[in-house]
Amino acid sequence: MTVDGPAPPVVPVSAEMRYAKVRAATDHTTVGVVCETPDGRVTIACACGMELTNGPTWTLDEHIRLHRAEARYLALSAVAPPGIPRLVPLAPATASRATTD
Ligand SMILES: [Zn+2]
Repeated sequence: MTVDGPAPPVVPVSAEMRYAKVRAATDHTTVGVVCETPDGRVTIACACGMELTNGPTWTLDEHIRLHRAEARYLALSAVAPPGIPRLVPLAPATASRATTD
């Protein structure tokens, strides 16, 4: 019998990673309405300030999906536990931050 008391609860995803995901979603919400440019492209603004648009080989929806996925990846990657195996290697600036925090 131990006197340490109950172990702290194990959570599948940390609050920091949950918050990063939510923050990425809210920071990259489309703003306004779709506009058509004189050259025939369609665009919509993102809350982060970037203009999302279609291109010669991609649709506006594809750009929106990629943009949100990249934002979510960057946000989660920045707060992920150190040492976690990754599909995409950490950028050098992020890697040095991860080891000093
Ligand atoms: Zn954005």
